[in-house]
Amino acid sequence: TIFNLGSINADLFYHLPHLPAPGETLASTEFRRGLGGKGANMSVAAARAAGHVVHIGAVGTDGRWAVERLLEYGVDTRHIAELGDTTGHAIILIDAAGENQIVLYPGANVALGQGQVTAALAGATPSDSLMFQNETNLQSFAAGLGQQKGMRVVYAAAPFDAEAVHGVIDRIDLLVLNQVEAAQLEAALGRGLGDLGISDIVVTLGAEGCRHLECQSGSDRHYPGIKVAAVDTTGAGDTFTGYLVAGLDRGMPMEQAIGRAQRAGALMVTRQGTADVIPDLRDLEDFRP
Ligand code: ADP
Repeated sequence: TIFNLGSINADLFYHLPHLPAPGETLASTEFRRGLGGKGANMSVAAARAAGHVVHIGAVGTDGRWAVERLLEYGVDTRHIAELGDTTGHAIILIDAAGENQIVLYPGANVALGQGQVTAALAGATPSDSLMFQNETNLQSFAAGLGQQKGMRVVYAAAPFDAEAVHGVIDRIDLLVLNQVEAAQLEAALGRGLGDLGISDIVVTLGAEGCRHLECQSGSDRHYPGIKVAAVDTTGAGDTFTGYLVAGLDRGMPMEQAIGRAQRAGALMVTRQGTADVIPDLRDLEDFRP
């Protein structure tokens, strides 16, 4: 089982003729609401990869639809709390040329209580995985608990947050991050990735694929990217990470789990959208890049 402590957001897309100037009031020509948040995306991806996923998170009373959608996608939602605060959301303004402006409100995502995490992980064993990102609170607490229970502790260091990194870096087994986050993390810690003492580190490189660094052997292997015509790269990293953890949680060797995660990431960039269009295993079988 994969326990994913993660954000749940409403992505609110407003299309506009141009981005508003200070003081300007502008009518949107098109509105769309989608399920988002890095945590929710990773839960959906892991579930689509046939992983058994328990999401640990929170929404406000206005977020029941998001929980229902996660449930539809096969995620166990029993440990998603309904808190008084507003559901986390992103207000995404898009102009005619596709340029955007985004306002993020974390809301319920950062109002989680320790008791909720403890209860969710009560029955967890060393054969389970715990994953988290930087869009909730309690990463450090959860990492400590996961480590104590001998779980595979996975940290997706996105979006980058120096404070969160310091609280978890000594408690994780697998670190997944993109190139930008890797540079930020090395700068924040004043150490190279290879000197962190983390068993496995996977750095995603967009179209260039990814790198896998293995602490014990010192190996650094490059997996070349799969050639596709990219349409929309949002959610590629979340899809990759969800697939990677689902594979490992099912006992796949790293090489095989990375191979499948790369196929899922590559297929994802050929699609417009986020959580709602994350590919499943059947899509991957039909995928002929
Ligand atoms: P993030 O979305 O976090 O910035 P990346 O852009 O590095 O993450 O993408 C994550 C993974 O998705 C990559 O390691 C790769 O496997 C796949 N991927 C992303 N962009 C492309 C692309 N343009 N072509 C092929 N694969 C891609």
